[in-house]
Amino acid sequence: MARYTDSVCRLCRREGVKLYLKGERCYTDKCAFDRHGYAPGQHGQGRKRTSEYGLQLREKQKARRVYGVLEKQFHAYYEQAARQKGITGDRLLALLETRLDNVVYRLGFAASRPEARQLVKHGHFSVNGRRVDIPSYQLKVGETVSLREKSALSPKFKDLLEAAESKTVVAWLERDMIARTGRVARLPAREEIDVPVAEQLIIEYYSR
Ligand code: SF4
Repeated sequence: MARYTDSVCRLCRREGVKLYLKGERCYTDKCAFDRHGYAPGQHGQGRKRTSEYGLQLREKQKARRVYGVLEKQFHAYYEQAARQKGITGDRLLALLETRLDNVVYRLGFAASRPEARQLVKHGHFSVNGRRVDIPSYQLKVGETVSLREKSALSPKFKDLLEAAESKTVVAWLERDMIARTGRVARLPAREEIDVPVAEQLIIEYYSR
């Protein structure tokens, strides 16, 4: 399946907000958005799109880019959320948050979502004791993600785990740094999701 392979910093500049796709670099003065906070390309510093449709489209693209999800899959998340009870926007974000790659990132076992995606694909994690290498795997409440024992011994994970020690974990996940596991204790509430998207605009985009 085709994936975005160009510089991810262009995506932050396009969306006009830091999406934190490069891990530690995003917090340094090397951040491309901090250095050139306008959209990329020849017309990047020109007039911005302000139509209602344009705003809805940008919001949807921003959310897709934050979570690294392709259009078809993102639309499927929307449809799934719309079928569930509750506020569709909240349900949509909860589905995105409980993807395996996002949970690995939230647990601090990866420095960014793109890195978490790659680590999952390389088979470094298991869910309830079974190896899972599908980044979009949907975690359910009560399921436990574990870093595989062999992987934990690698220098890469030694550094990541060291950095994870100082990171606070979101309240809906229970992390055990000794066992190197994280359990989904409950679904996240909207106010616990710090992603800068106006999900109502996304719902309006798909409800047109
Ligand atoms: Fe975005 Fe991070 Fe690149 Fe800055 S360094 S532009 S936050 S991906």
